[in-house]
Amino acid sequence: MLDKNYEYIDNILHIGGVSTLKLVEEYGTPLYVYDQKLIKDTASCFIENFKSDTLRTEVIYASKALSNLYILGLLAKKGTFVDAVSMGEIFLALKAGFKPEKIHFHGNNKTKEELAYAIDNNIGLIIIDNYDEFKLIEDLLLNSDKKIDCLLRINPDVKTSTHKYIQTSNADSKFGINIRDEKLKDIIKEMTNSKVIKLLGFHAHIGSQVNELGFFKEEADILLRFTKEMEEALAYKFKAINFGGGFGVRQNTSDPSYDLGAFLKEFIGYIEKSIKDYDLSIETVGIEPGRSMVNQAGTTLYRVGSIKHTLEGLPLVFVDGGMSDNIRPSLYGAKYDALLANRAKGEAYETYRVAGKLCESGDILIDEARLNNPQKGDILAIENTGAYSLAMSSSYNKQLKPAVVFVEDGKASLAVKREALEDLIVNDLEYIED
Ligand SMILES: *Cc1c(COP(=O)(O)O)cnc(C)c1O
Repeated sequence: MLDKNYEYIDNILHIGGVSTLKLVEEYGTPLYVYDQKLIKDTASCFIENFKSDTLRTEVIYASKALSNLYILGLLAKKGTFVDAVSMGEIFLALKAGFKPEKIHFHGNNKTKEELAYAIDNNIGLIIIDNYDEFKLIEDLLLNSDKKIDCLLRINPDVKTSTHKYIQTSNADSKFGINIRDEKLKDIIKEMTNSKVIKLLGFHAHIGSQVNELGFFKEEADILLRFTKEMEEALAYKFKAINFGGGFGVRQNTSDPSYDLGAFLKEFIGYIEKSIKDYDLSIETVGIEPGRSMVNQAGTTLYRVGSIKHTLEGLPLVFVDGGMSDNIRPSLYGAKYDALLANRAKGEAYETYRVAGKLCESGDILIDEARLNNPQKGDILAIENTGAYSLAMSSSYNKQLKPAVVFVEDGKASLAVKREALEDLIVNDLEYIED
């Protein structure tokens, strides 16, 4: 993992050289704060280390992890590709300045409307999930004069050791076609014969929060061996391959840390060698980091409203957000650490439970947090919330969505305004009695 630009000045947390207390004064709470330099450094780390003399490499940001004009604009400038899983994400990527050829379109049930939108906008690549989708794309293309590059998503049956909601390659997974499926070869054959679809090769994504390079090597072995088998069986040359994302991040202090640059170098080296050993015609290799691009850079700031001592269990620290701005702890038990931004150090650490303000008993952000004497009015910072928190946020209880601010070198840039009350009803129509 790369270093964050965190520092404590007079016991107050500063991110990117900006005081978190100044930030909440200006933008309110809850507030998502992003360490902009860390994101830039991470993008450079991916691009510079996942690089080869013999292959074209593509770092494709999985935009579902965090998608707004600001972050997409920043990554477009850094030179990444982007992966979109809906018409909305394609729309945002285009608006943010990604060239259509650098946008890849994913999803297990892309609608006809979405596919037509992707084709109309000359999206660079579609990753096909299933046979019905293949036929649907063919139908759409037969009515136009266009052709489109595609990969086929394969489920390589690699079992990773993460939560089942973020595993994607079990035999019952909804994503892709299982590598052991008897119909697979015939489907590929039909695709290689298509007049309008150019099948470049295969894609797989083994899951999320995978920390061990071993799983990715296993995935590479399986997918490259499979590519070789298909080349021989169908007398067809595949030109591209994509190993998905899922590179683990350090969410709390008990998670392992690893050297991202070294990891990427070793991975691309392994891929290069395997492609050579199998004597494949693959020219382009892609990976799709989402979480690992943005997670460590994000911190959520909340204001503490009350410390409540219940009859049993840990004392509760109430904050002014919760599952509406970060559903991951309730959804799949994600674990975070917190600190008090205005009293970052001290001697009076005790264990507390951090609870949100939403009307659900399960609205707990941290089960057990070591905090230094929290008081009403304090600012509580939860680190490593950059991925899949804002992206999965909701308006439950009509919570106003927090602002998003990027900080670097002492300067704060507002990326998303805090939602206003009037925004809650922009699409609502009034009841009129007749
Ligand atoms: C979610 C997803 C990614 C990104 O996963 P991370 O864990 O965020 O890196 C990449 N590719 C595909 C196909 C995905 O569904």
